[in-house]
Amino acid sequence: MKILNKNYINGSWVDWNGDMADVHEAANGDVIARVPMSDPGQMELAIAAAHAAFEAWSESSVEQRVNVLGQLHAGLKQRAPEIAEAVSREVGMPLKLATAIQAGLPATVTKTYTDMLPEFPFVEQSGNSEVQYAPVGVVGCITPWNYPLHQIILKVVPAIAAGCTVVLKPSEIAPQAAFILADILDETDLPAGVFNMVCGAGQTVGETLIRHPDVRMLSFTGSTRTGHAIAHAAADDFKRIALEMGGKSASVVLSDADLEAAVKGTVSNCLLNSGQTCTALTRLLVPADRHDEACKLAAAAAARMTPGNPLDEATRLGPLASAQQRDRVVDYIRLGVAEGATLVAGGPDAPEGLDKGYFVQATVFGNVDPNSTIAQEEIFGPVLCVIPYSDEAEALRTANGTAYGLSGAVWSADQEKAKAFAAKLRTGQVTVNGGGFNPLAPFGGFGHSGIGREFGKWGLEEFLEVRSLQL
Ligand code: NAD
Repeated sequence: MKILNKNYINGSWVDWNGDMADVHEAANGDVIARVPMSDPGQMELAIAAAHAAFEAWSESSVEQRVNVLGQLHAGLKQRAPEIAEAVSREVGMPLKLATAIQAGLPATVTKTYTDMLPEFPFVEQSGNSEVQYAPVGVVGCITPWNYPLHQIILKVVPAIAAGCTVVLKPSEIAPQAAFILADILDETDLPAGVFNMVCGAGQTVGETLIRHPDVRMLSFTGSTRTGHAIAHAAADDFKRIALEMGGKSASVVLSDADLEAAVKGTVSNCLLNSGQTCTALTRLLVPADRHDEACKLAAAAAARMTPGNPLDEATRLGPLASAQQRDRVVDYIRLGVAEGATLVAGGPDAPEGLDKGYFVQATVFGNVDPNSTIAQEEIFGPVLCVIPYSDEAEALRTANGTAYGLSGAVWSADQEKAKAFAAKLRTGQVTVNGGGFNPLAPFGGFGHSGIGREFGKWGLEEFLEVRSLQL
């Protein structure tokens, strides 16, 4: 077991002798690490350090920032196996996925900003004005457990690249990668106080961070409920906010689409990381006359998602991250049955032989009423709702008929038709016929899914104020 009784403040590890929280291995419930449940005093120290470091870092050269990001990139690559294993154990993510998304993607994102920085126009001419981009100030970064390091990197790297200083409060459920990140940054030339990390509960250190007057921006990923609390706290002090929150994304299969490819693509997306993905395509919208065939295909695809220990190579479906999350998802599955949806695959019982740990079966519901709770609320588990529609107008109304607006997918034999439909979806990103991921494209939500964008130049601009000099 790892005892991580320290926070990273002002360029050093500061010992913590107070309350600690257990970090559990998702596959068996064993305690694998203990981390600080810090008090507000620790957070105050971190904010003071970030505040003191801001002026000098805001004036640092692009070369200085590129040098640090390059060192971070090298460190992430070097420690990739350690990061992947830690996340795989605490989140339940299959090791191969953790290697790609928790170690590979953070390194890629860091590289994109390292490459972008020398080209970014921090000063532009507009008529007789010089337009300048200035860092926002001290940024509070608050992150969740589902893709822990990826979500941290998407905030910390562009914030530092923009010239901001940072206080990170990682999720107390999956904190180990944040400690590794702090360790890596400690080895770089980053000046003391530019990056700080305090581990603890949202209700204590999180609250201190979101209410502190010296923090000028809050960059948050997590639930819509917490995002709401953060937006309220920020409004009191006119802090800038960037919120990445939940989703209930629709995968719309148009009548001319290759149904098998569409269902396969949707199921593997929906069940990625056992459904603990904000962009998960959790609603599969199919023409009514192809509903039964779609359900059969979805059940077959779900059956191919072998459940098991995430460290085993054969595992495609790991456990959920916590007992609480498992119970929440099982309650939704029971509710789906009670609401009258047809259980096509899976169900509320743990997968056979996997009673220890936080496992849930890959579950598919058919004939789901688009207004029912399981079709409206984010379940954040391996649950797909198949919803029949009668015509494209109804499909569009249903797809746009939730409070969320994060992601979506459209499938059609005619790419232009799919693009035209995609343009009507009220979401931040849409995959057309299974199109690939691009780390330079903007990512974020409409409606209750969020405010602001991450990735690419849009992710950097979130951390910059604009000012003009009239000449
Ligand atoms: P959560 O909102 O419970 O917690 C997220 C973070 O906020 C944690 O670090 C937590 O300690 C902190 N927090 C909680 N209350 C706080 C408060 N009052 N003040 C300050 N900080 C507080 O979310 P979670 O359970 O960790 O993550 C799952 C949720 O995150 C899902 O709803 C999912 O959709 C969402 N999510 C969204 C995205 C996205 O990019 N849109 C990505 C991943 C996860």
